[in-house]
Amino acid sequence: MRKAFEIAGTRVAPGTRDLVDLPMPKLSSHTNLSMPVHVVHGRRDGPTLFVSAAVHGDELNGVEIIRRVLATKSINRLKGTLVAVPVVNAYGVIHESRYLPDRRDLNRSFPGSEQGSLAARLANLFMDEIVKRCTHGIDLHTGAIHRTNLPQIRANLDDEDTARLAHAFGVPVVLNAVVRDGSLRASASELGIPMLLYEAGEALRFDEVSIRAGVVGVVNVMRELGMLPASKRRRGVSREPFVARRSGWVRAPQSGMLSATVALGTRVSKGETLGFIDDPYSGNRYQVQSNAEGVVIGKLELPLVHEGDAIYHIARFSDDIDEVAEEVEAFHADYADAVSPNGVAG
Ligand SMILES: [Zn+2]
Repeated sequence: MRKAFEIAGTRVAPGTRDLVDLPMPKLSSHTNLSMPVHVVHGRRDGPTLFVSAAVHGDELNGVEIIRRVLATKSINRLKGTLVAVPVVNAYGVIHESRYLPDRRDLNRSFPGSEQGSLAARLANLFMDEIVKRCTHGIDLHTGAIHRTNLPQIRANLDDEDTARLAHAFGVPVVLNAVVRDGSLRASASELGIPMLLYEAGEALRFDEVSIRAGVVGVVNVMRELGMLPASKRRRGVSREPFVARRSGWVRAPQSGMLSATVALGTRVSKGETLGFIDDPYSGNRYQVQSNAEGVVIGKLELPLVHEGDAIYHIARFSDDIDEVAEEVEAFHADYADAVSPNGVAG
């Protein structure tokens, strides 16, 4: 018989699930705060996967992705253990903010320490109680405030196990991203834990296509890991994703009011006009031009810009970029079909 999964003084027996509260530092108002951890402990042995969301407190698609994954029926027959943390940064969620009350970015504060800043303590808690008990991880993000991202996986593809999971997730674009100092991904990789970062949609908004693709992606990774039976019919892209090795931003050449005329997933060429910036005082109009050939994977939604603001995120591919754009379009059409408001993957 498999051993119970122990976390924060709670024992979760094999074949059962539980919700465990990890205590966090109180609010200044004396209000207690905790990190909710859903543990689904399978009857049979297998990997231990963590899935986390709202490390940035205003990035909410992942909270809904985790809710739907936990409602998936097949989860009850899983091999191994799923550790799902829908709200890592509760402080940020309360304030609809990316940051912690000490104005630090949690995803630049890993691995943290017991005696450090609030951000460092929260990072340390997450490492000790979650990451160190797991064999694999997926962290769910969205674009920053007023920025929206094409559903994409960011991962270190030079690691074979990570690359396998990145491909299995099933979104058309994978960005081979080096780890950033202080990020959860950097600390997990130091422990040898393969980890994916899913980026999709916008902060403070639910985006149905991003959510549905995220639910299917998490389930696909669990299938790849042998935690769930392989599916006869895999949803989403049927082929290998396109890998971008490089990406960069197109920035505002002037301050003013932005009309961004190009949609996410569009293929663009160098020098192509991607929109206009109008100065409401002088009446001057400036062109925003692409600085590279590639596919738009991120976009500013706010019309107000200052000179130098990042407007479009463009990924470069060695593949034929017409093919990439076609695959992205097919992916969107697939997930936009038959959307049910609380759609739960089978
Ligand atoms: Zn984020």
